[in-house]
Parts: sequence; structure tokens; C-alpha cells
Amino acid sequence: MIPPASKDQMPVWRGDGKVLQVNEIFYSIEGEGLRVGQPTTFVRLARCNLRCFFCDTEFDSFREMTLAQIVKKVERYSATWVCLTGGEPLGQNIAPLCRALVRAGFRLHIETNGTIDPDPVLCDLIEHWTVSPKRRKIAEGLTHITELKYVVGQAFHEDVVDEHRAKYIYLQPESSKPQYIHKALDILTRHPNWRLSCRIHKILHLP
Ligand code: SF4
Repeated sequence: MIPPASKDQMPVWRGDGKVLQVNEIFYSIEGEGLRVGQPTTFVRLARCNLRCFFCDTEFDSFREMTLAQIVKKVERYSATWVCLTGGEPLGQNIAPLCRALVRAGFRLHIETNGTIDPDPVLCDLIEHWTVSPKRRKIAEGLTHITELKYVVGQAFHEDVVDEHRAKYIYLQPESSKPQYIHKALDILTRHPNWRLSCRIHKILHLP
């Protein structure tokens, strides 16, 4: 049973999961965090419950796809890993899709903004959880976080880092701007176990 989303996390769109609103499906190399460099098929789910000012994702456009259509498209690519991203992928009911992809032999990674409690069944289906918190409080239902990835911009302060929620902490300079790279490097001098995340797919001009 999917836990209801709290009011301050609305709007969240959760149906029966047989048809999903998909922005795009594409093949690339994972460019951020612990899985950097691994070939990956990205399934970008449409829509997001937040509106971050630095967001560069066109998540409002979508086409509706059945699970069979999504799996068929993912199977065209050679990657073993599938990354569910967005927008906010936990805004839709992705449990049926995750079951279908795992059944087809894929390994799953999700990138979420940390504001929505997932369906608990997802904890067994998804191996790699990236939470990029866009609010101070991370949803309690996110119990299997692999890595926390914080965007370091003008307003970012290291006190917000919730070190106990994940083994790996990444700092990612907002839009790779030099002043935020310097800010992240400075913070790392005080937290030598945290890591810098650079978006290598942007540097290499990959999708
Ligand atoms: S949470 Fe992510 S996808 Fe949503 S608006 Fe913010 S940066 Fe964009």
C-alpha cells in the first residue's frame, strides 16, 4: 500500500502505475555520484512537485507510455543499469514498472528530491538510491539512501547535510559555476570524507 503524501508535498500524481507520464528515455553514461562512468539507460518521468530556480530539466512535457512500451524501449539499449529520474520519479506509481524492469534483468537506480515517501516495495526493487535534497527535511520513508547529493549554491550551508542518512555525501556545485566549485572545495576541507560531484556528462557533452 502506497503511503499517502503529506499536504506540503503536493501535488503528487500517483495512479495504478500501468501507464506513466514519460518525458524521455535515453542512453548515456552516469555522470554524477558513486556510479559515475557506468553505462545507463535513463527513464525521465515527467513532472515535479518542486520548482527549483536552477532546474534545467523540461519535465512538464510528456507522453503517456504503458509499462510494456517503456520496457521495450529500455531493452533497445545495452546498459544493465536503468536510472529512474525526473522531474520527480516518486511522484508517480513506479512500483509496477520497477517490478517489470527487475524481472527483465535490469538493475535499478533512482534519483529523487527527497520530499516524497516511497512505496516500501521499492526498497527491495531499487538497488541504488540517490537523494538530492531540495528541502531541509528528508522524507522519513527514504530508508535505503545510498548517496546524498547536495547542490552547492549561494544559499547552501554545510549544516543542512544529514550525514547519518547515507554512507556517501556528495557536494555538487550549482551549474558548475566557479564560485560554487570554490565554495564546495572549501567545505570539503572541513569534511574530508565528503566528495565533490562533477557532472561529467556535461563536460563530455553527452546527453
Ligand atoms: S526537484 Fe529536481 S526536477 Fe524538481 S524542480 Fe528541483 S531540480 Fe528540477
